[in-house]
Amino acid sequence: MSVTLKLYNTLNREKTAFQPIDADNVRMYVCGPTVYDFAHIGNARPAIVFDVLFRLLRHVYGDSHVTYARNITDVDDKINARALRDFPHLPLNDAIHAVTEKTAKQFHADVAALGCLEPTVEPRATDNIEQMVAIIEKLIGNGHAYVAEGEVLFDTRSMTDYGQLSKRPLDEQQAGIRIAVDAHKKNPGDFVLWKLSSDNEPGWESPWGRGRPGWHIECSAMSNRYLGEVFDIHGGGLDLIFPHHENEIAQSRCAHGTEVMANVWMHNGFVQVEGRKMSKSDGNFVTVNQLLATQDFGGRQWPGEILRLAMLMTHYREPIDFSIKRLEEAERLLAKWPAADASDTAPCPIIIDALADDLNTVAAVQRLHALAQEANADATLLPMFAASATLLGVLPEKTEVDEALAGAVDALVAMRLEMLKAKNFAEADRIRDELSAKGIQLKDGKDAATGERMTTWEVKR
Ligand SMILES: [Zn+2]
Repeated sequence: MSVTLKLYNTLNREKTAFQPIDADNVRMYVCGPTVYDFAHIGNARPAIVFDVLFRLLRHVYGDSHVTYARNITDVDDKINARALRDFPHLPLNDAIHAVTEKTAKQFHADVAALGCLEPTVEPRATDNIEQMVAIIEKLIGNGHAYVAEGEVLFDTRSMTDYGQLSKRPLDEQQAGIRIAVDAHKKNPGDFVLWKLSSDNEPGWESPWGRGRPGWHIECSAMSNRYLGEVFDIHGGGLDLIFPHHENEIAQSRCAHGTEVMANVWMHNGFVQVEGRKMSKSDGNFVTVNQLLATQDFGGRQWPGEILRLAMLMTHYREPIDFSIKRLEEAERLLAKWPAADASDTAPCPIIIDALADDLNTVAAVQRLHALAQEANADATLLPMFAASATLLGVLPEKTEVDEALAGAVDALVAMRLEMLKAKNFAEADRIRDELSAKGIQLKDGKDAATGERMTTWEVKR
């Protein structure tokens, strides 16, 4: 394997060579959405960033040697609130189901439009309650958790190196926490593993009564079930480092007695909109659906490939300023790229090297743009362009052409090639013009294998 992958690891704040635990099964976990509302572009960023990493890992280790788990959090107090608001006439469980199904479906449509592959597994929290209860029982058994006032809490002081990821000393973490509401906690930083549910809240039977899990334990349970006690890469947005990822680490390491939960922790930077922090009250809160399907942003719709490319034009660890200007810039690039069919050809090595250097998508996009221009001039480069664009998930799709039209065009293209061979240039040009008038663009080149003249065509965009 000639590609050396280097990744920046939040655990030690260093970029180091990536060594999978098992090259036959490289395992990555990324925190997925809590399904109560439309995904905003801050949610879209990790979906896109880790999709590029997933594609790169598949390229390096083989498609069937990478397991990517991205969960769906379908139990959360925000979901309950939304269910009561939107479906007041339904029994609570049905209302919750209606909210989570509708939102999960919308999320899948959004990420598909953004060109993201489906993860290998997409576990739902509510299908993994048993696993959560088992981990909590373990943590109580080995002295890392305790029961107080209807809650099971993780005892942060029981773990000597709590704070490994965020590097926040425990005292500093606790300084900002309001003590008054947390009188039942041994330490102010202790967090909920399980809490009791009232009759109008969703709940599952447990040794501590009918209740529901805290958020952090969900990811510890699902990653353990699908990826094991220690796995390769854990990803998410920068805002998840503390407390969410810190607490995932605490739970998993204390339950399994391991040195780490995942070897590499990767975090994407923040997303701003038009230079300002996204906020609903400021009116600059932008959902993926709004961009794709409404004219709320810049007075027009934005196709998914533009949104994706705009994201990849900034390195994943840098903050992004999401703006109309940036989207227009991405659109200008895409307009100059040829449409091509996906190809089994090897992607451009410069692009692989750029991505292998901690996902340098900025350099990769630059090179892809240059390659697009080269392929526009020389059709034999189209397969390499297509393979490289696929690696980034930004291959412009050929416009759908119905079979009858495609057959007619193929026949005219073949006839034109005959005319060119016979040096009947006038007739060849006439056919080219006739096709052009129908919106068909021809590209002449040479077949890479045989060296023979060949012509490809596409519908002008
Ligand atoms: Zn998580």
